[in-house]
Amino acid sequence: MRKTRIIATLGPATDSPEMLGRLLDAGVNIFRLNMSHAPHDWVRRVVADIRIIGRRRGLIPGILMDTQGPSIRTGDVPARIPLVVGERFCFTVRGGKVPDGEKGTSVNYDDFARDVKPGDTLIIDNGEMKMRVVATQSDRVDCEVLTEGGLGSRRHINLPGVRVSLPALTDKDRLDVALGLELEVDYMALSFVREPSDIATLRACFHTLTHPPQVIAKIEHQFAVDHFEAIARVSDAVMVARGDLGIECPYEELPIIQRRIVKTCQRIGRPVIVATHMLESMIANPLPTRAEITDVANAVFEQADAIMLSGETTVGRYPVQSVEVMDRIARRIERSGGAGYHEEAELTQPRQKLVRSAVLLADQLRAAAILVFTRNGKLAQYTSWLRPVYSPIYAFCDRESMAAQLVLLRGVIPLVLPSCSDDPEGSVDGAIHRLVSRHQLKAGNQVVILVPHATSDDREVDSIKMHVV
Ligand code: PEP
Repeated sequence: MRKTRIIATLGPATDSPEMLGRLLDAGVNIFRLNMSHAPHDWVRRVVADIRIIGRRRGLIPGILMDTQGPSIRTGDVPARIPLVVGERFCFTVRGGKVPDGEKGTSVNYDDFARDVKPGDTLIIDNGEMKMRVVATQSDRVDCEVLTEGGLGSRRHINLPGVRVSLPALTDKDRLDVALGLELEVDYMALSFVREPSDIATLRACFHTLTHPPQVIAKIEHQFAVDHFEAIARVSDAVMVARGDLGIECPYEELPIIQRRIVKTCQRIGRPVIVATHMLESMIANPLPTRAEITDVANAVFEQADAIMLSGETTVGRYPVQSVEVMDRIARRIERSGGAGYHEEAELTQPRQKLVRSAVLLADQLRAAAILVFTRNGKLAQYTSWLRPVYSPIYAFCDRESMAAQLVLLRGVIPLVLPSCSDDPEGSVDGAIHRLVSRHQLKAGNQVVILVPHATSDDREVDSIKMHVV
């Protein structure tokens, strides 16, 4: 079994029912929909297909909606615009038109011309192209092209060090979030988080819901790095979004920032995703570079909860192979040990300390599994946080939407057992029987069980059981 979860971003290379099935068979746990490139009718179709195809396979894949956030993007262009070093290029705002004979396109942000000043550098499309601002007017920004390239539609513009005045959730984001809530996506990622209150802004959109999506803070900005721990504490999970992070911060800082984020997440108990450019060369090639293999291996060695594919699975020629490569590297590296950052875990609640005892017991016994009966996911999350060495964590819960929110957790295999919340103790035999019939356990296996237990005075306390199948 692989403990590290794999997230695949969907796009034209993978959005057919056939490809969704192949990605699931190759080991994808969560599908990501990047709202910077996702029309709503496409999202509706793909979400429905993911659920149908998952069910046919007896799997519960998670669905992650990734908002565009306060990111500046170029407008739609009929064809890529070639850029030549030294020539002029204009960005228009507030409905301004690119005059005939000039090169340019619109941007999605009206205050762009106010936020930048002559001399600022624009980094476009993940660093592919650079321009320098030479002049600004109320409805246009004139630039000089510094690197040659071709500018396509909806390319992201980074302004390192500039605090753009876009709100945490733009009007577009609010429409996307409403769609995500209607479709009951399992995770909602907030892009370009700058401070903890941005997370509160997103959560306010679902304050009336009983089962809201999990909120993932994307760390892709120096401002987020500066407030990282406070942001992580108010989020359900964190993504090291290295694409933008590597542009917004000096790139030599990136490995240090990544390690700090992964370490902090394991100290304070937040699942963490390492994302972007993990197998970038596989967009065009069937095999990864040696450096990419080592990059994936490092994230797995640091015991990140999940590793993520973007271009490799949206537009790449080898999406299924990319998942297979991640799967193979993760399985091998997990066998070789891990960084053990969770040893610094700051456990503050009695339940967390009880879970630590269960994990220690499972490690001592080399238990074949840890079975967790979880109502709101917390027990499963604590068990995953403490990174059992040998034992997979089977997390039993009573609804599919809960199970889909547990697939992000390292080492957790969520299973739905409808009665298990009403009578967790009475569900243990059924749960073991199910694992035996699926060949996940066999007679003689030792397992550790974390289950709520009713006391004689009608209270419920968690208990740890050791059990031989
Ligand atoms: C990133 O920048 O690494 C990232 C995951 O965000 P996006 O793909 O939305 O740019």
